[in-house]
Amino acid sequence: MPPELLQIEAKKPGGNWKDPAVQFRKGVFCYSAAAKNVRALGLPNPRDWQPFDADWKLPPDWKQILLAGMKERLQKYRSFRLFMDICVRCGACADKCHFYVGSGDPKNMPVVRAELMRSVYRRYFTLAGRIFGSLAGGRELTEDIVKEWFYYFYQCTECRRCSVFCPYGIDTAEITMIGRELLNLIGCNTNWVLEPAANCFRTGNHLGIQPHGFKDSLEFAADELEEITGIRVDVPINRKGAEILFVMPSADYFAEPHYYTLLGYMMLFHEIGLDFSFSAFASEGGNFGLFSSHELMKRLNAKVYEEAKRLGVKWILGGECGHMWRVLHQYMDTMNGPADFLEKPVSPITGTKFENARSTRMVHICEFTADLIHSGKLRLDASRNDRWRVTYHDSCNPARSMGLLEEPRYIIRNACNRFFEMPENTIREQTFCCGSGAGLGTDENLEMRLRGGFPRANAVKYVQERHGVNLLACICAIDKATLPTLMEYWAPGVEVGGVHELLGNALVMRGEKPRTADLRGEPLSAEATHA
Ligand code: SF4
Ligand code: SF4
Repeated sequence: MPPELLQIEAKKPGGNWKDPAVQFRKGVFCYSAAAKNVRALGLPNPRDWQPFDADWKLPPDWKQILLAGMKERLQKYRSFRLFMDICVRCGACADKCHFYVGSGDPKNMPVVRAELMRSVYRRYFTLAGRIFGSLAGGRELTEDIVKEWFYYFYQCTECRRCSVFCPYGIDTAEITMIGRELLNLIGCNTNWVLEPAANCFRTGNHLGIQPHGFKDSLEFAADELEEITGIRVDVPINRKGAEILFVMPSADYFAEPHYYTLLGYMMLFHEIGLDFSFSAFASEGGNFGLFSSHELMKRLNAKVYEEAKRLGVKWILGGECGHMWRVLHQYMDTMNGPADFLEKPVSPITGTKFENARSTRMVHICEFTADLIHSGKLRLDASRNDRWRVTYHDSCNPARSMGLLEEPRYIIRNACNRFFEMPENTIREQTFCCGSGAGLGTDENLEMRLRGGFPRANAVKYVQERHGVNLLACICAIDKATLPTLMEYWAPGVEVGGVHELLGNALVMRGEKPRTADLRGEPLSAEATHA
């Protein structure tokens, strides 16, 4: 193992945990949001500042704003008040956070991370705290606490692994989300979250790609597919009256290895003759609002639903994206939904009614494809993926938030001959986070990303050593963007790809020319070429 990251201070930290002082050391925090992005979203206190500055240029009444914001949220979110009140400090969650495992910093234990907020709650919102102050576990809200909140609430990927182990079901991610929301009220936000969100408002997607760029990118993909398969696929965009609106994360049409997943979707839709449309307005499935505030989450989510209404589709099909699904399944119905202007989703190919989507009216591509395979609608040649020895990373949001555990595995097992699971306590509901979710996928906090991703990478290393695994498949754009760096560092030789890339490789299309290369342009084995 590289020695640099193994220097974790294992001995008990000195001092009192209530001391909020933190050191903003390069590599472990994210830069502040540029004022132009704060302005573009209409958020408070746009200014030039950085976390390592002594003066954060907070508004003069910052304390009142935070306490009023906290009061409002305690009244609004019952879960927040419960989570502030019911922790018994049993410690069951303590070693379940990948950031604690990777950094050794006790304030990264979920119970302590929550306590950073709870101590302020206790001081200002409980009788004992108001009377006895620190004797009742309360802390005065100071500027140093604001900095401590920023440091630790932006060192949580909101993955919810800790909640799986808490006997009371306390979800520290919800506390982190409220913490970030409060920080946003005084203009303490990070650029890697707000710039994509601002771009999404400006052009429809996080990357700021204009509609003509979106169109060019999809047509380029169609050209490439024609070279690989000899088949020209359609690229319907903004088509009114299509049966289905397809929404994917923008990285799928822009970045690698996501792009191969896009090729897989396009092949699949052509092969089954799906009546669908892409949208240049809703050209983003990812929802960075989740990492900032409920309000921003709602605003970004609304774009997809407004576009579905405008195009007059029956229902929505969503691509391989993590946070799109968390927002959808946990919050959409009470934010923008229910989307009762849409129909209850039914597969036009198999007739399957997606009962689980009768409220959201949105089906995950893995559910859709698994149903096609199960119904015998696809011809697959798994030998075309024989160069891969595959393991599967359950992306936190689809796995823990919506229980999407079997469908991706079912697709992989049908599209590949060599599939190996990682150890049981690192997959499915207990999956370890990639270390970069919730807006931490940027390069300035690379050290913390590598530390936080260590437990995930360690499990991959295990199957790499035992089974020769060389591909880590997943269904989240942030995973696909950040796992390659994680693998390069902790498990060199393991590449990262999407489930629908594997599906696309294996898919035998009617009328295709003999395939000589996979979707990455790598040669197929002689047997697979002529299958
Ligand atoms: S939600 Fe995830 S990152 Fe946050 S404290 Fe819990 S385990 Fe750690
Ligand atoms: S497991 Fe739950 S109750 Fe126990 S310390 Fe953690 S948050 Fe508190």
